[in-house]
Amino acid sequence: MATGTRPADVVIVGGGIVGLATAHRLLEARPDLDVQVLEAEDRVGAHQSSRNSGVLHAGLYYAPGSDKARWAVAGKAQLERFCADHGVRVARTGKVVVATDRSELPALRALTERARTNGVDVEELDVDGLRRHEPHVHGVAGLRSPGTAVTDFGEVTRVLAGVVGAAGGLVRTSTRVLDLVERPGRVRVATTTGDLEARAVVTCAGLQADRLAAMTGSPPTERIVPFRGSWLRLRPELAHLVRGNIYPVPTGGGLPFLGVHLTRRIDGEVWIGPNAVLAGARSGASPWSVDRRDAAATARFRGTWKLAARHLGIGVGELWRDRYLHATIRAVQRYVPTIGVDDVARGPWGVRAQLVDRDGNLVDDFVVRASDRVLHVLNAPSPAATASLAIGADLRDRVLGRLGRGTG
Ligand SMILES: Cc1cc2nc3c(=O)[nH]c(=O)nc-3n(C[C@H](O)[C@H](O)[C@H](O)COP(=O)(O)OP(=O)(O)OC[C@H]3O[C@@H](n4cnc5c(N)ncnc54)[C@H](O)[C@@H]3O)c2cc1C
Repeated sequence: MATGTRPADVVIVGGGIVGLATAHRLLEARPDLDVQVLEAEDRVGAHQSSRNSGVLHAGLYYAPGSDKARWAVAGKAQLERFCADHGVRVARTGKVVVATDRSELPALRALTERARTNGVDVEELDVDGLRRHEPHVHGVAGLRSPGTAVTDFGEVTRVLAGVVGAAGGLVRTSTRVLDLVERPGRVRVATTTGDLEARAVVTCAGLQADRLAAMTGSPPTERIVPFRGSWLRLRPELAHLVRGNIYPVPTGGGLPFLGVHLTRRIDGEVWIGPNAVLAGARSGASPWSVDRRDAAATARFRGTWKLAARHLGIGVGELWRDRYLHATIRAVQRYVPTIGVDDVARGPWGVRAQLVDRDGNLVDDFVVRASDRVLHVLNAPSPAATASLAIGADLRDRVLGRLGRGTG
């Protein structure tokens, strides 16, 4: 541990998939570096990285030219290669976006064009095409992405930790970072297991990202607003009703994560959801947990109220579906009519870290804030698990640039 005179080269805060992918990319390029990953929990990937849909997104939806668009496409290919090299299962189950009536055709066409602009291979489907790929789906037309895949990102995260360790990196769990102080050529890192120094720091703290960013320089004007997503599980004997991923046509409205969809997971289970409701805690033990500090931070932030006012109808609908199973099932029955309310049970849940600005806009793209020696990943929402190795490569280049300035 670098508590003495010699600083670590790079300290990464957060042992989720983004932090560990960054450590992996650094050690791959520079095996001589002393890289340490500090994780608050007693295991890696305890939060978003193992509580997600497990979809390797092909990159259909993202604004052309955005980091999301570029890094989803590049990162998916990189992650598929990593999984093949390290024995992690990936299944290219494909994805079908379903238009249930003709009013959705213009939005489906716009999505087709966007996907092609992003360089994503997609196929337009008529009714017969829809049935061929997803025999139990009802719709008037569809779009298919054959490259969409599923994996277990929790397993990917654990394997990444093993690879980092094998390359000489140190992954320290049960080590919460309490403070970061920038000094010329150094950063002092205060943790629950002692202090250390680093020549560069990268924070990949997910739901705590804004708090880590506030430790150096002035606090960001944006805040992390936690949104819980819960899934329903389809009865195992009905899993054959869903072959891959079935999504509705996106409705827009500035909320990227809405729309009830069905995912056949890598273990064969079918999950329905997730929905999106404001969470009372960033890292609670149950879906209903309320953490006083987290709830107060959300309530005091003016962006929360602006967001709520702008999307009141959608928010109420999400809460309603969260409470009443039949409301979610009604949404599903629009495109898979054979699924009934008795065919599902409440399933797992996860909390998304979503950056929101003071005007109530959800910040769509990935955001990294940098100072001389510290890089803060401030916004890494979906598809950051898919894109993790590409995000890690970008952060690696920025870190090496800083170390190369020679003040360390
Ligand atoms: C419901 C849901 C569905 C999703 N579905 C998909 C999907 O299908 N495909 C996809 O690509 N993406 C999906 N995502 C998004 C994806 O899971 C995240 O973008 C990704 O996991 C972010 O990784 P991360 O490492 O940034 O964050 P996290 O996994 O949250 O890791 C951050 C880590 O930092 C640690 N930490 C925080 N503060 C400190 C501190 N002070 N000191 C030390 N450690 C600290 C935390 O304990 C945590 O382990 C989904 C997310 C959710 C919640």
